[in-house]
Amino acid sequence: MQKIKVDKVTPEGYVLVKLDKTYIVPNLMENEEAFIEVTKKGIRIDKRLSSHKDRVKAKCPIYDICGGCQLQHLSYDNQMKLKFDQVNHYLTKESVKTELLPVIKSNLPYHYRNKIQMVFGLNKGKIVAGFYEENTHKIVNAAGCDIQDEVANEIINTIKLLMRKHKLMPYNEDTKEGIIRHVMIKRSRKTNQVLVIIVTPSNVFPGRGNLVKDLLKTHPFITSVVHNVNPKETSYILGDQERILFGKGFIEDILLDKRFLISSKTFYQINSEQTEVLYQQVIDFLEPKKTDIILDAYSGIGTIGIILSKYVKKVLAVEINPESVNNAKKNANLNKVTNFETIAMDAKAYIEHLVNDNKALDAIVVDPPRAGLDKAFIDSILLIKPQKVVYVSCNPETLARDLRQLSYTYHIVKVQPVDMFSQTYHVENIVLLSLKTS
Ligand code: SAH
Repeated sequence: MQKIKVDKVTPEGYVLVKLDKTYIVPNLMENEEAFIEVTKKGIRIDKRLSSHKDRVKAKCPIYDICGGCQLQHLSYDNQMKLKFDQVNHYLTKESVKTELLPVIKSNLPYHYRNKIQMVFGLNKGKIVAGFYEENTHKIVNAAGCDIQDEVANEIINTIKLLMRKHKLMPYNEDTKEGIIRHVMIKRSRKTNQVLVIIVTPSNVFPGRGNLVKDLLKTHPFITSVVHNVNPKETSYILGDQERILFGKGFIEDILLDKRFLISSKTFYQINSEQTEVLYQQVIDFLEPKKTDIILDAYSGIGTIGIILSKYVKKVLAVEINPESVNNAKKNANLNKVTNFETIAMDAKAYIEHLVNDNKALDAIVVDPPRAGLDKAFIDSILLIKPQKVVYVSCNPETLARDLRQLSYTYHIVKVQPVDMFSQTYHVENIVLLSLKTS
């Protein structure tokens, strides 16, 4: 055990402690002192000896061990300050000159997650549902998680009770016994539709009919129940095999008046309310015109492009995951959108095609994964030179790197952070870039 005094925290709110190697330690603030202990899993805070004046008590009882949230020891306003400073830090580091706007706050800083996934296990003979403790396979009981949808939390509790009633044991990874491995729940708060996915290690699922019947009796608004089989020892929750036990196997959510289908494996933004705020900002930045041809790159299930379609002449949506592309097509049909074309391809390869074909674009919207844009993708933007680029990013570090490269040809007009992931250090940003006139 040893004593540390915090000098400074990282832009993400962590403390870096340099011992035999550098450890990331959450839940400490500037000038705080603590006794720490190095364990196999990293550093554990044994006892905090002082408290920063801005420290607040975390709402969650397992905040210290879960690892899912990192900022519950900050007030919501201070979380917003940390996120603003974080974005500012990376922009400054890359010398990006722009207007950084205040973070758009969320009206729902708790219980916003529309998708929840919980692992089931036994703890002292009692059925528990929760998460794996950070970096381990130990299950932390977290049935009432504060950032998860409240209705979904209630359903998890009902499933625990029903498992006892129907004598369905949770799966044990070591002994390979038991039935219920994970439960995933997806809910649309707009349509109030709920999809429950029950994951078992094999096809064997005795009494599933009665379980579903009881589950629907308690929560009659459940729209669909799916049985997913995952026999593999992986960190993936869902397996390949699936059968529908009730309903259609999917739900619908609404974003800015467009409907989107969500099934077990569909990629979908986990905070619907703030996603609407984000997409509205994309529209406002883009100021689309009826004559515009727009590229929606990294388009997922087509949400941004389908929402933009009514303002423009044509949307080209490129996405690498064929399943998402399929979903995007279904979503376009569902919304009777006909000027939205999907391309199942690597975004970089596709935009290179557009360059080779001398294709003109009025604007490009990009929404890449955390790694940001490929250098070759950026080079192609600089060849096509659309009037506007709107960059949606979930990682300020790679965003700043990419903006720097684009800044010789584009004005980085403004950066709008949006709080999509309250209680965590993650921050989403939307950036407007406008072609310099030379
Ligand atoms: N715009 C969507 C999805 C953003 S997530 C939304 O708002 O929901 C990023 C997406 O980029 C994912 O769907 C992922 O499958 C896709 N992707 C990752 N690498 C890609 C690549 N090289 N080319 C095209 N799409 C890619």
